[in-house]
Amino acid sequence: MRNKKQLGMSVVLVAAGVVIGVYFSNQPNELPSVTKTAQAAGGKVKSPTAIAPDRYVYYPGTEALLPDEIRVIACGTGMPSARRSQAATCFLVELGDGQKFLFDIGSGSHANIQSLMIPADFLTKIFITHLHTDHWGDLASLWAGGWTAGRTTPLEVWGPKGGREDMGTKYAVEHLLKAYNWDYMTRAVTINPIPGQIKVHEFDYKGLNEIIYEEKGVTIRSFPAIHSGDGPVSFSLVWNGLKIVIGGDSAPNKWYPEYSQGADLAIHEAFMTSPQMMRKYNQPPQLAARINLGFHTSAQAFGKIMSMVKPRHAVAYHFFNDSDTRYDIYQGIRETYDGPLSMATDMMVWNVRRDEIVERMAVSPDEAWDVPGPGGHLKPDRSRKSEYTDFTLEGRLDVSDVNKRWLEEFMKQNGLTADDVNIGQ
Ligand SMILES: [Zn+2]
Ligand SMILES: [Zn+2]
Repeated sequence: MRNKKQLGMSVVLVAAGVVIGVYFSNQPNELPSVTKTAQAAGGKVKSPTAIAPDRYVYYPGTEALLPDEIRVIACGTGMPSARRSQAATCFLVELGDGQKFLFDIGSGSHANIQSLMIPADFLTKIFITHLHTDHWGDLASLWAGGWTAGRTTPLEVWGPKGGREDMGTKYAVEHLLKAYNWDYMTRAVTINPIPGQIKVHEFDYKGLNEIIYEEKGVTIRSFPAIHSGDGPVSFSLVWNGLKIVIGGDSAPNKWYPEYSQGADLAIHEAFMTSPQMMRKYNQPPQLAARINLGFHTSAQAFGKIMSMVKPRHAVAYHFFNDSDTRYDIYQGIRETYDGPLSMATDMMVWNVRRDEIVERMAVSPDEAWDVPGPGGHLKPDRSRKSEYTDFTLEGRLDVSDVNKRWLEEFMKQNGLTADDVNIGQ
């Protein structure tokens, strides 16, 4: 069902790409990559048994990156209010040398990440722009899910300090772990507790293009955003001469155009129009107007910002991308920006290369399972004991007679001893 939907969406997007392509074919500048994407879909099938020569679909796990190429995947592009077709903000950045970084991990995005079937050990570095749930709401899901799936190291989170201690990333993650104490304690007795930790690297939100991460040829910088209070930031990632900018929620600010200069891919929010916010998101008119003025960015302002940045390719996100919403936002952007543009939705993929940037849709399975990485499983800490009281233990129903039917054979096949299968208390 989902795949059908996604294919349908791809067709719509390709159709939109053709329209955009026609628009740009009349422009004197170089053709934007969306045009190339649309053209790529038009390869001929030369016989009834031949394969289609060019595809405009990315099937996760089937393409090696070139050593100097970056792939960016939108794993969430929507709003705080949940919907199945769009999770909240999350962008996965994959570098040609294998390094991977998550930028935001909003509510619902973990299922999209999982559908890419990347081993949990490769998804341990998360950069958070700000602490609204639609930007970090699935951190707990990745934390516990990856842990149970065999991640061998703690997660590492980079995020801004707030205006005061209780508004910062460190406070948020520490309290998330406190809230999930029962989860941690009960898992740590059966699986290795180390991957159940989260290390936090907090930095000053006021840093102006400050380096917050520098390792293995990757430089990630932070600069402030203006959104709902002190603390929110945007990020840029530079690797191998390519620059990706991930804008967090923000009203237009002077830092983004300044520090995004030279961007290959510039991602920034473009909010739903105020009439849409009234009609479809049930906001009163005052708030519908202020949303686009005070703490988010209108389509026209997004266009103005991108005209200042002039990236090789711009990406607009943070709107419900429907047939009756995207065109008003698109037209608003086109009032002020005529460069290459993607109207992002979940599972949109950009391959960023020196000679071209290609936008496609990923088609990934709804029924994805975790994929083991090279690390293998860590051993559990058998010195930890669960904290059952006699009250609970006395409630166990004896089903050893029926479990015998499979257990003996399973133990033989896997070389298990009685101690291995001793459930303790
Ligand atoms: Zn926000
Ligand atoms: Zn948001």
